[in-house]
Formats: sequence, structure tokens, C-alpha cells
Amino acid sequence: MTLTHEQRHRYTRQLEIIGEEGQRRLGEARVLITGLGGLGSIIAGYLAVSGIGYLRIVDVEQVEATDLNRQIFYLSDDIGRDKPESLAKRLVGLNPFCRVDAHMERIDEKTIHHLVNDVHIIVDTLDNFTSRHVLNRAAVTRRLPLVHGAVRGLYGHALTVIPGRSACLKCIFPERPPHGTFPILGPTCGVIASVQASEVIKYATGIGALLLDRLFAWNGRLSDAEIIDVERNPECSVCGYIPPEVA
Ligand SMILES: [Zn+2]
Repeated sequence: MTLTHEQRHRYTRQLEIIGEEGQRRLGEARVLITGLGGLGSIIAGYLAVSGIGYLRIVDVEQVEATDLNRQIFYLSDDIGRDKPESLAKRLVGLNPFCRVDAHMERIDEKTIHHLVNDVHIIVDTLDNFTSRHVLNRAAVTRRLPLVHGAVRGLYGHALTVIPGRSACLKCIFPERPPHGTFPILGPTCGVIASVQASEVIKYATGIGALLLDRLFAWNGRLSDAEIIDVERNPECSVCGYIPPEVA
């Protein structure tokens, strides 16, 4: 795929960083974004404008007024509408070169197969522990990279999983986190969503170093970020069977 004059112009400010080859790779990348809340909707926006060729976006909820303190791609008029469809309209408006495939579906053992089919990268922003582990297992089984992020209050973290090469979500978070509605400040989502979107762009274009076995942890209360080293659990019930030398 060759870049058109219009595309070259549109992406001028990033071509110096990723090059024409990188831009072409973005155009060929197929990304699954699971969860279209404070993280997923913003990641989708950044990826669409970056020139990612195909986004499959998945959520099962409607836009609510209480989402609008952080989910900035939904408008007040979208309240009551399905999130995938509302976001898809906005993304195509942001960049007509991005193909968007909207799915109003819950992620479970049945739906996961067609949702991960034919994608190159998975983005996890799910707040449901069970669905998140269905997704992690699918990523490991299919050897697909998974870019994970989570937020709460003024805190958040992000990490990338390359199955067989770095720790998977089950290695790092074996326990179920506290469930329920939690407080969240919009800009916290912006920080973590930006890190996750950067990870996808870096993976797709091959630039920079990914957050492999390194958890990016953000403390917005202190404006402090740290990298926490993590490692694969050789006994992991999800990825333990992949020998390290396969990576
Ligand atoms: Zn694991």
C-alpha cells in the first residue's frame, strides 16, 4: 500500500518519527479494542488519527451521563445510544482512512473467537476480571500481543504482553481485583490511554521499546510515574506451557 499525497500531508508531523514504512504498517494494522470507556474510547481516537487501518471496537453498554467526565469522544446527544456505534461515527469523522467495525457484544468464551479473529493486536481496557482473563487466554493461545491498562481514581497502570516472551496478565494479576463502581478523574484515563496507544503504534511500526515485563504505574496525586519490574511465572496456568526459548 503506497501513501497517497493526501495521507502524506495528513501524517506530516509523525512521518519524521515513524517513516513512510511505519505509516504503511499502521495502515495495514488490524487492532481489537475491548471496552470503550475512559481508556478504550480515547485509545481508539488516538489510533484512528494515527492512521491505523482497521479498528474493531467492542463494548456492551450505552453512553450514560456519568461517562462524560472522562469519555470525551461521546457527546451529550449520545446519551442512551450504544457505545460502539456512537464511537464508530466519531472515529470515521476523525479519520476517513480508518475502517471501523463496531460490535455491541459481551466478551466471553463464545464471542472471543470471532472477536480476535484476523486481528494483529489486542487492547485490553476491560474492568471485568472474568472477561479480561478470557481475553488474556485468547491472546496467549493465538500468540497475539496484548496491551493492557487499568485506572482507578488518580492511579493507573499499563503493560504489554507478548505471549511466550513476557509475563501475561495471569502471571502478574492472579487475584480478582475489588469490583464495583469506583471514582475516576478524566485526565487519569488520558495518561494511561496515551501510554497504551503509544504501545500499539510502537508495536505496529517497530519503533522504541515496549512495556514488556515492565509495569508503567502512574500516581496522579503525586504526579509520579514508576516502572515496576515483573516477570513470567513458569507455573502460570495460562502461559506457563510456552517454553521461553520459543520467544
Ligand atoms: Zn502467564
